[in-house]
Amino acid sequence: MMKEKERVLKGLSAAPGIAMGKAFLLDREQYVIPRRTIKEDQIPAEIKRFRDALMATKNEITDIKKRISEEMGVEHGQIFSAHLLVIEDSILMEEVISRMKKEKLSIEYIFQDVLSKYIKVFSEMDDEYLKERISDINDIGKRILRNLIGAKEDALANVKDKVIVIAYDLSPSDTATMHKKNVIGFVTDIGSRTSHTAIMAKSLEIPAVVGVEVATKKVESGCMLIVDGTHGVVIINPTAKTLKKYEASRKRLVEFGKHLMELKDLPAETLDGRKVMLSANIEVPEDVASVIAHGAQGIGLYRTEYLYMNRKDVPSEDEQFKAYSAVAKSVQPDSVIIRTLDLGGDKFLSQFEVPREMNPFLGWRAIRFCLARPDIFKAQLRAIMRASTYGKIKIMYPMISGLEELKQANAILEEVKESLRKESVPFDENIEIGAMIEVPSAALTSDILAKESDFFSIGTNDLIQYALAVDRVNEKIAYLYEPAHPGVLRLVRSIIENGHAAGIWVGMCGEMAGDINMTLILLGLGLDEFSTSPIMISEIKRIIRSVTIEQAKAIAQEAITLSTGKEVEEFARKKLMEIVPEMMLEMEG
Ligand code: PEP
Ligand code: MG
Repeated sequence: MMKEKERVLKGLSAAPGIAMGKAFLLDREQYVIPRRTIKEDQIPAEIKRFRDALMATKNEITDIKKRISEEMGVEHGQIFSAHLLVIEDSILMEEVISRMKKEKLSIEYIFQDVLSKYIKVFSEMDDEYLKERISDINDIGKRILRNLIGAKEDALANVKDKVIVIAYDLSPSDTATMHKKNVIGFVTDIGSRTSHTAIMAKSLEIPAVVGVEVATKKVESGCMLIVDGTHGVVIINPTAKTLKKYEASRKRLVEFGKHLMELKDLPAETLDGRKVMLSANIEVPEDVASVIAHGAQGIGLYRTEYLYMNRKDVPSEDEQFKAYSAVAKSVQPDSVIIRTLDLGGDKFLSQFEVPREMNPFLGWRAIRFCLARPDIFKAQLRAIMRASTYGKIKIMYPMISGLEELKQANAILEEVKESLRKESVPFDENIEIGAMIEVPSAALTSDILAKESDFFSIGTNDLIQYALAVDRVNEKIAYLYEPAHPGVLRLVRSIIENGHAAGIWVGMCGEMAGDINMTLILLGLGLDEFSTSPIMISEIKRIIRSVTIEQAKAIAQEAITLSTGKEVEEFARKKLMEIVPEMMLEMEG
């Protein structure tokens, strides 16, 4: 075989770690179904084949749903309910059978034709819910076709060797059929940190890079690959030298990971005794296991909108109460900060009739939506307040842009409290209420907002996109999305200073809190709480435990005088290498 040249592709880090192995290109081609005529007497056999394929597909989906619900929680399993609904759609299925009888063409040919017409109709509709269902229909349609034409089994489920999956995108169903044992990494052309693929990758703890744009064009099945999920890098056909280098760093990473886990029960405390809170972010109640396993001090961000996803109805107050109280109970005596519904932006929830917007991230989002829909907001607040006697709960509002919004939200909360008092329903009268600071206007008026808040949590994912005018989910401009940008650092510094001047604590729950390059600076700026994805907890703790607060302050002070994001990043990295040389080994890869 001709020796292929080493190539490096850059993408976005979705889940950290290094994977090395053969590429497995997930076939995105549609099946080619020939137009085959049938005779009248073959009709019953065709109908039987169709029914058998439907049954086999239903069984497959039910199995996946069960497995995913057990492994990753019912919320993730719920995704497959939509797939089952497609199979149970009798109109679609009857149309296939009646056309097959009339046109006397093979059932798979007719099925594919009917399916593509449905997809076309759905894609032209104005209904967002139906549009979202296109990928479900595609997914399920492929499964049914595979079962109809026989032999062709699910490519991913059948993977026998350890492989790195390369795909344009991965549907939840694709991700679910992956065998954790055999799929050791994955890479996708599209997607961002907030895509479902990235969330799944983190939960599965599989190194992953997304938003590579050209991965499916440049990578051939069977070629050797390195996926550096920590740095968002993919190396095709690595040379023996590169392989050796990455193998060494992979081993070091594993060893380092074990070593870091020894810190699990130690506090996040500087050498001279400054303690900070190190908590974790969760999407669904099932993520609590990982929070505990990584030794986080409770939950700094519970993204409740996931409870509203992949369904047509709105979760009832009781259903929400059960979820919130279960999470509160399982992390006690630590606390959970429940973030109220952050609908909108890239988190579109189809059950609410939100009109299509030109700029969804600047639109009818989060607290703006909740204030306009007090029925939905109150149900959530009631559920949270009722759960507040089951553990230690704090509440925070997303996307606060000014004082009026904060006051209005608090006024609605007061109404909720009052009605609970009247009903003699107990709740925590001293519950802490915080504002997320993720809009530049909120950062700039944080002195004013601090007077109405018990704490702040800086949402850097949004703060950075709004401050730098860089869409956080657009892989094409990801190079401009710089947490180390001096503009971002100044905003963060002023939020912390204003919070402290008003006597409240200031945390951070955006991805910047889990960015090891930023830890020393954030610590030096006086951040009180870091809330990160559970897998980053140990590394952040390791850094915090290696400096004095004076050292960190000096680093922050110098960093903030620098002129560009690149300069800040280089400086921060240099300091990190001086202070935590183990990190250097990891970063050099
Ligand atoms: C943020 O914006 O930083 C944040 C934590 O919230 P989300 O990522 O859910 O918008
Ligand atoms: Mg946000």
